[in-house]
Amino acid sequence: MTEGTHFDQVTIIGAGLIGSSVARAVRRGNLAGRLVLADASADVCAEAERLGLADACLTNVADAVRGAGLVILAVPVGAMASVGAAIAPALEAGAIVSDVGSVKESVLKALQSLLPAHAHLIPGHPVAGTEHSGPAAGFASLFDGRWCILTPPEGADEAAVARLTDFWTALGSKVEIMTAQHHDLVLAITSHVPHLIAYNIVGTASDLEAVTRSEVIKYSAGGFRDFTRIAASDPTMWRDVFLNNKDAVLEMLGRFSEDLTALQRAIRWGDGDQLFDLFTRTRDIRRRIIDAGQDDAQADFGRPHKP
Ligand code: NAP
Repeated sequence: MTEGTHFDQVTIIGAGLIGSSVARAVRRGNLAGRLVLADASADVCAEAERLGLADACLTNVADAVRGAGLVILAVPVGAMASVGAAIAPALEAGAIVSDVGSVKESVLKALQSLLPAHAHLIPGHPVAGTEHSGPAAGFASLFDGRWCILTPPEGADEAAVARLTDFWTALGSKVEIMTAQHHDLVLAITSHVPHLIAYNIVGTASDLEAVTRSEVIKYSAGGFRDFTRIAASDPTMWRDVFLNNKDAVLEMLGRFSEDLTALQRAIRWGDGDQLFDLFTRTRDIRRRIIDAGQDDAQADFGRPHKP
């Protein structure tokens, strides 16, 4: 493998939204001499080849990692261990193995026990995505200006961590390093619980008897439709997130339920001050997200409104 952000060969396993976006950004930045994709599905591989995403797309993951200086696993969290077991015997000495999974501790533990000592395991998670899946859904600018969190295990090779940091920076990301455990706690409240709330409210609305489903859809611009975007996210991916980040999600859900009960009480007892104070604080959080460049300031997410 050559030095810096350029690798002789980069292999990405899983040619879906994230894997294909990494592939496109690798091409954009000319970061690999040879770019190889792999996917369990022959149909997905055929689509990736039709889209010209890589030099090759293989269904055999072991064949795909031969010769690779950097291997990135972009499969659902629940599939990381089986992919790790399949690639382990074929990994080159000194290869960096990373992933993009939304949960880190379970992936780290699973891969640590499977990969050979001659490979450098440095799990990662780009905090960027959409509600779409598959190779056609990816785009090269997905990671531009977004955070990528790396969670190297204790004693990880510093040069390999630095190289992976440079690689993600070249993909357009800002990189932060933390422990896998801390990552899972932070993401539980910033991503996993919000998704669960969205899945739940959309589920509740679809089960209502007093309000028809067509009314829910007709009047969705009142706020409901913003939840439906998140609730349209990939079912396999999100099932795996909740099964693999159980402790942190349950901890945050406990806090959430307590706060919700307090709001319920405030509404019941007509405590307008409590409601007003909370809504003022939450408005400030939105302003800070915009100031930090994490979202657009346009009203209603910039949706077109007819005069
Ligand atoms: P996706 O679009 O569904 O792509 C995943 C791909 O992996 C699919 O083509 C799938 O094939 C393939 N795959 C599944 N099991 C495999 C196996 N054992 N071997 C080889 N390929 C396999 O999903 P995604 O949104 O890119 O998510 C990929 C990873 O990125 C997940 O770990 C997720 O947590 C993480 N992530 C997602 C987002 C997001 O917003 N979507 C953001 C950050 C991180 P089949 O379709 O045939 O199963």
